[in-house]
Amino acid sequence: MTTQEVMIQKSNSLFVPTYSRFPVMIAEGYGCVLKDSENKEYLDFLAGIAVCSLGHCHPRITDAVCQQIKKLVHVSNLFHTFPQTRLADMLVANSFADRVFFANSGAEVNEAAIKLARKYGGEGRYEIISLEGSFHGRTLAAVTATGQPKFHKGFEPLPKGFRYAPFGNIAALEELISEKTCAILLEPVQGEGGVRPLPESYLKAIRTLCDKHDLLLIFDEVQVGMGRTGSLFAYQQTCVTPDVMTLAKALGNGLPIGALLTTERIAPVFSPGTHASTFGGNPIASAAAVAVMEIMLEEGFLEGVQARGRYMTEKLSELIGKYKHLLSGVRGLGLIQGLVLTEEGVGHGAEIVNKMFDRGVLINFAGNAVLRFIPPLIVTEKEIDLMIQELSSTLASI
Ligand SMILES: *Cc1c(COP(=O)(O)O)cnc(C)c1O
Repeated sequence: MTTQEVMIQKSNSLFVPTYSRFPVMIAEGYGCVLKDSENKEYLDFLAGIAVCSLGHCHPRITDAVCQQIKKLVHVSNLFHTFPQTRLADMLVANSFADRVFFANSGAEVNEAAIKLARKYGGEGRYEIISLEGSFHGRTLAAVTATGQPKFHKGFEPLPKGFRYAPFGNIAALEELISEKTCAILLEPVQGEGGVRPLPESYLKAIRTLCDKHDLLLIFDEVQVGMGRTGSLFAYQQTCVTPDVMTLAKALGNGLPIGALLTTERIAPVFSPGTHASTFGGNPIASAAAVAVMEIMLEEGFLEGVQARGRYMTEKLSELIGKYKHLLSGVRGLGLIQGLVLTEEGVGHGAEIVNKMFDRGVLINFAGNAVLRFIPPLIVTEKEIDLMIQELSSTLASI
């Protein structure tokens, strides 16, 4: 056995078995390429699940982290710090929001949004409506908000006060609204659920319902925020502005940080002592996120994401024509895209992902019928071509 195989076996025996991992020890990464411990290279179209959007070990982020780690690592939120304040300032300046709350992950900021919504609702108004097929995280409240029963199984009793609306059906959603409702929570583009953008008219109708019934509209942009769709935030490509937005994945390019953004009107619902996070907005993670924001706001960055997004759509669409029996469509926005598999294709989904892995290209399966492509946003046309070439060969072999 190679050292890598020995270590993989060890790893498989050590952890609580929550993950089924690719059989590889990733040792290093640069840009869109990861390397295992035997120097085999992988072209990364997963980016640590839409986290390393500026690629692996981006020199400017590494530099920001190294500078900060020599100065100050942690003081808790009993104190003000420069990186955290700078980051909040940048988030506010570039979004609808006036105020920010930091935590460490997507689930945690969604948890904060759920608590904020309940406080906003007040006495007897605590129900939150989310959408079927959604994904909001794994903590007990966030997983309950997640509109997919498979994530709930075995964890009952679930917290009360969550209702689920069928995707795309505004009448069914309106029927769920009662005097108990305080918020509607949704991903403007569903990620884990299978890369499904919400139609603009649907979003608009939901905004109208929120205004009519005084409900908070919460956008979970944990996966699609931070440039992924070709705008800094996905909501900016719609005619709808949320009241609350949550961010995490790509915010720190791999350093753990999450942010809840909201307005001056809503923020005072929380007061000192009502909610908190010890590590939230830690100086190191914040310094990384400041560097991320600086890079993404540079002229041409987001236009580049849009251009390569269009390129990827075009190339993925060409495959549909070639492999009609396996692929039925492409959907997504910017550099989060999904290839929808046919019924026959679904039967081969895992096989396609594994064959791609053997060929040195990382992709995954989102939802039950979609191949997901979420490369670092710095991916080049050449790298897209390489991925497409391997995907075409893989599909041809099935
Ligand atoms: C990944 C994800 C989460 C959960 O984030 P964690 O950091 O894993 O807790 C929540 N919402 C969406 C849309 C996600 O994609």
